[in-house]
Amino acid sequence: MTARLVIAVDGPAASGKGTIAKRLAAHFGLPHLDTGLLYRAVGWRSLQTGEAPAEVAAGLGAGDLGDPALRGDEAGQQASKVGAIPEVRANLLKFQKEFSSQAAGAVLDGRDIGTVICPDAPVKIFVTASTEVRADRRYRELRARGVDTIRPRVLAEMAERDRRDSERAAAPLIAAPDAYHLDTSDMDADAAFAAALAFIERKGFRSSGP
Ligand code: C5P
Repeated sequence: MTARLVIAVDGPAASGKGTIAKRLAAHFGLPHLDTGLLYRAVGWRSLQTGEAPAEVAAGLGAGDLGDPALRGDEAGQQASKVGAIPEVRANLLKFQKEFSSQAAGAVLDGRDIGTVICPDAPVKIFVTASTEVRADRRYRELRARGVDTIRPRVLAEMAERDRRDSERAAAPLIAAPDAYHLDTSDMDADAAFAAALAFIERKGFRSSGP
């Protein structure tokens, strides 16, 4: 029997990790958690209500992740600020651990899945792309959603968030030593998914679906 399939996908903003994780979950019929949404929900709610981020994190549940505002860049910046607070990370740990322990297996994407949340996951993928490519992707995505912004601003904000995420003491963005590095700078979404899938299949995991 093959091991339970837990797939840990990590990487910086707009690297393509979310799309890869979503498609892998659909392919293998696994539940998927975008852990960035947890941090976004904590950052956003504490900004709106003035509650301490650690308290918001302690009371957070799956029902709190649906607000479309969480997908915006302001929520992303807030997420990266509260993500540096160790109590916030500690209070979000149980929810993520439980999600990853489901009998069916799971796909989680974020910054510290392979290093902190699921260090024993049989599949770890660290997705990267150059800062320019990632800023371009985010710029196009924002414009497509009707957000009025300029490319240099998107690039500057992305560089700032990268720096904060990589330099923080609590669970900084680093690849697990056994992670597969996937640079999507010159890949479209289909090619990136195909590369991730090929890696997983090389490890002996196959979809049991049609
Ligand atoms: O992935 P996403 O851009 O939605 O993440 C928003 C922010 O949340 C990140 O910049 C990071 O600071 C934080 N985060 C984190 N750990 C995770 C997922 C997200 O610190 N596992």
